[in-house]
Amino acid sequence: MTPSGALVKLSRFTSGKAFNAMQSRRQVVLITGGSRGIGAAVAQLAAKRGYDVAITYRAEHEAAEEVLAACRDAGAKAVACRGDVAIEADVVRLFDEAEAALGPVSHVVNNAGITGKSGKLAQTAVETIQACIDINVLGALWVAREAARRLPKSPDDGAKTIVNISSVAASLGSPNEYVWYAASKGAIDSLTVGMAKELAPEGIRVNAVSPGMTKTDIHERSTQDAGRVERLRPHIPLGRIGEPGEVAEAVLFLMSDAAAYITGANIPVSGGR
Ligand code: NDP
Repeated sequence: MTPSGALVKLSRFTSGKAFNAMQSRRQVVLITGGSRGIGAAVAQLAAKRGYDVAITYRAEHEAAEEVLAACRDAGAKAVACRGDVAIEADVVRLFDEAEAALGPVSHVVNNAGITGKSGKLAQTAVETIQACIDINVLGALWVAREAARRLPKSPDDGAKTIVNISSVAASLGSPNEYVWYAASKGAIDSLTVGMAKELAPEGIRVNAVSPGMTKTDIHERSTQDAGRVERLRPHIPLGRIGEPGEVAEAVLFLMSDAAAYITGANIPVSGGR
């Protein structure tokens, strides 16, 4: 992984003055759902690797402020933008705010997601399923569409990537827990393959990372069952829960020039599950 991947590439025709200005320009990554969990870990690792960082969040302002402070401590410019990814107009505004604060966005991590309260499909309320599809599928589509419209098109602008956060649930199906969530992540896998082919001619790489069980708030918020993670541990071949930072490493790899020939890929970070 090359930290220099975060700096824009320079055309051999670039003038000396423009060269100096561009040389110091850091690439900007926008991470939806960057206030907590995996998104927060991606934001902090991106800041350490030389990116400026825009995080979005829906409600938890203080958590977002903590992530910003950590990013700034690492030397990055960082901004937090509040909005609901399920609302198309919010997504457009989030990109506007990020660009106004930091300049053109070159990388988008399509991360915000929920599961909804766990249970069997037959007993699950329409509101639970609707919210999950609105955020995980429609929200991801609004974000991917906006990224496709806005990511720079010139080869001189350096790497341009979208990384979608899927889940191993897409292939496991999450029976008795949240099959609607698994289905929403199946949609992310299709989105990744289609967008990768659609945007390849523009030099934009689109990949996915599929975490397995990762230590974040999402589990207790979905089940109110503090013991669930421990109960499922024996089903993980590597015998432990993943850390958000381990997912972030895969995301940063896909954003970097080390992954320059990788598009349409989906990396499981799941301990072998
Ligand atoms: P968390 O619950 O820890 O964090 C979710 C983040 O998404 C928060 O920043 C939250 O903002 C934001 N968010 C939620 N809903 C919206 C919305 N409607 N609009 C904007 N932002 C929103 O989740 P994780 O970090 O665990 O999950 C991140 C991604 O990883 C999700 O897509 C999830 O499906 C996926 N994943 C997670 C796994 C895990 O085991 N943790 C396993 C597989 C996949 P706020 O702080 O304001 O609430």
